[in-house]
Amino acid sequence: MNVDLHCHTNLSDGSLAPKELIQLAIERKIDVLAITDHDNIDCYSEITAPKEGLTLISGIEFSTTWNNIGVHIVGLNMDLSNPELLKGIEFQSVAREKRATLIDEKLHNLGIKGCLEGAKRFSSGQQVGRPHFAQYLVEIGAVSNIQQAFKRYLGAGKAGDIKQQWASLGDVVSWIRGAGGIAVLAHPTKYKLTRTKLCRLLEDFVELGGEAMEVISGNQTASETQSMARLCKQYNLLASRGSDFHAPGQPWAALGMASELPADCEPVWSRWAELAD
Ligand code: MN
Ligand code: MN
Ligand code: MN
Repeated sequence: MNVDLHCHTNLSDGSLAPKELIQLAIERKIDVLAITDHDNIDCYSEITAPKEGLTLISGIEFSTTWNNIGVHIVGLNMDLSNPELLKGIEFQSVAREKRATLIDEKLHNLGIKGCLEGAKRFSSGQQVGRPHFAQYLVEIGAVSNIQQAFKRYLGAGKAGDIKQQWASLGDVVSWIRGAGGIAVLAHPTKYKLTRTKLCRLLEDFVELGGEAMEVISGNQTASETQSMARLCKQYNLLASRGSDFHAPGQPWAALGMASELPADCEPVWSRWAELAD
């Protein structure tokens, strides 16, 4: 089965409209897809009946902080009309607005003007994220490309890395569970945590009700996969697989093309009886 449980549309920071993403998923012969836009579920109101051969699972990628480190939690298979979940999404939307204003202030203090307005032009009326600020920084020539924008201004530890305002890890996990979903630790290798710290994060996550982690996220090395699979078993978690696809042409994240889960991991989709092999 080709399963991709992490990808984005242009309703967060991806480039494809929900319908285009679904079309691509069908072309890639994906069997099960979850669209996981950042802190919103708007794409699900734009997609109508599921297409033949493709099962769509509801999804979201929540931003949160754990010990002052920005951590992402994917929620899968939730009831999207759950009132607590909707309140949580609204909370995050306000938090994102505040964050955008703070990023603007920080960059302004570094002498770069007009960032919020500039970023908004790139978000085409949708929520503003750091990639939109990055596009603006490239446009005005402050940096030569998106990667450099993150490295100098927006990435972990840089001026524009504002994260304190997000909901707590516990709140996010409880919104997902309250809506009948499964909370998944997204891309665990991306936080650049030491092994000890990552174990501490997993301990807390499990304690708070987290049930799965992405053993496969985009392109990763075989040794990363091995190491994530070991942790997944050590903490008795279900294993998820996602590309974290944002836009066609990104070599690190092609939709539906990530490696297979290691055979000894229990897939998160085994929970959804009708999908299990
Ligand atoms: Mn993103
Ligand atoms: Mn993420
Ligand atoms: Mn993502």
